[in-house]
Amino acid sequence: MNKFEPNANHLNMFRHFVNCGQIEPVPKQYFCGECGKVYKWMDNLRRHQRLECGKLPKWHCEICLKMFYRRYELTKHMKLKHHKT
Ligand SMILES: [Zn+2]
Ligand SMILES: [Zn+2]
Repeated sequence: MNKFEPNANHLNMFRHFVNCGQIEPVPKQYFCGECGKVYKWMDNLRRHQRLECGKLPKWHCEICLKMFYRRYELTKHMKLKHHKT
């Protein structure tokens, strides 16, 4: 006999509570006080505040003028939207 078999009723209860929002599935989040962006990790929030928040994106697409914070985002955009490398 396996004592550790999960209890189906318990699982259903748990799902029910998650659906009702009574249990927060994401344990902790970090909000940027300036723009409200949400990050899972403090490091990411710090990096955002240091490099991105309140600043204009450094890179822009010369074709459609969309702005990007990082070069690889622009490169990806060029490939996907304009089929350029
Ligand atoms: Zn911010
Ligand atoms: Zn573009």
